[in-house]
Amino acid sequence: MTGVRQTTPLDRVAGAHDAAVLAVARRGDPVSRAELADALQVTPQAISKIMGRLMGRGLIAEAGTLAAGPGKPTTLYRIVPSSRRAIGLHLTRSRVHGVVVDLSGEILERRELEIGRLQPVPELIETLATEARALAEVGPGVLLGAGVGMPGPVDWSEGVYRGTSDPDPWRGAEIRRLLLEELGLPVLLDHDSRAALVGETWSQPGLLHDAALVLVEDGLGASLCLDGSIVRGAHSHAGEAGHTVVRMGGAPCTCGRRGCAQAEYQAALAAGDDDLAAQVLATIVVDIVRLVDVDRVVLGGRTVYAHHESSMNAIRAALAEGLHAEPWVHVEVMLSTRGTDLIAVGAACEVLEHEYGIPQALVGPGS
Ligand SMILES: [Zn+2]
Repeated sequence: MTGVRQTTPLDRVAGAHDAAVLAVARRGDPVSRAELADALQVTPQAISKIMGRLMGRGLIAEAGTLAAGPGKPTTLYRIVPSSRRAIGLHLTRSRVHGVVVDLSGEILERRELEIGRLQPVPELIETLATEARALAEVGPGVLLGAGVGMPGPVDWSEGVYRGTSDPDPWRGAEIRRLLLEELGLPVLLDHDSRAALVGETWSQPGLLHDAALVLVEDGLGASLCLDGSIVRGAHSHAGEAGHTVVRMGGAPCTCGRRGCAQAEYQAALAAGDDDLAAQVLATIVVDIVRLVDVDRVVLGGRTVYAHHESSMNAIRAALAEGLHAEPWVHVEVMLSTRGTDLIAVGAACEVLEHEYGIPQALVGPGS
């Protein structure tokens, strides 16, 4: 494997086309070249080139023909889910939730391990490697690597967990490099909310063009997809909505400020005030909509599932109130389709995306 793939603008166009074809093909029924050309808004010649590339790599295969009137029957194509696999690991401070998925993003196997305590880094790497090795045994096809999604701050491009100002044994841990050395497989590391958004875009191909995913796990974060691209920012920190202030002089936050949404949300839940927690969530959702003009907001994460009804109601009410003067602004709010697998699946899908040529900070042996 090569290291971080050096992508040129042409690679990116090719990668985006390959990914778009696979995204269309993933939606279900076999597709024709004409349908693909239409979906991608490219010429039939361009589709032939893309299909040649994908078939040459075994990612797409013919799936029969469709006779429609006189003339040559139309050849149909489908993706070959069993051609590739990727592992996704969702790491929290107390748990590893792992999956292995096929090329369509379908889960072949999942594993869940309660760690129960904050492991020192060498032990943590061993734990992750053990889970990955067990998942690597499942399913056919080429295993492309392992993606890890974890709470931030995470430096995606460096593969490092940056850590917080609290005493934090994982602070500065080069998780990507260490796990790669342990596994001998390509590895990438990403922020949990970004991995979650990639996972969700795979579940809803083409729908999340301008969207935010608000993730509520132990912390509260968000990630953004604008103009069809995941936004990362200058320090891989884009979307830290949990650290925007919702109450001046409010509850102290781990980041050093007061009144951050995350701190206020956790304080409200700890006090048993679910309504207030839902209002905090609703406030940051409206702020995100105001700031970057998304038309879809996806809610995900274990904590939000436990409170999804109050959360959805509060968000819808806050959006209706906040946008009432602009009836042409429509924002759809939905729960993630992936449940508690979301982050693990997303981390695995990021590895698959690298194979398609979408820039991902996947680093392999020998790089
Ligand atoms: Zn904060």
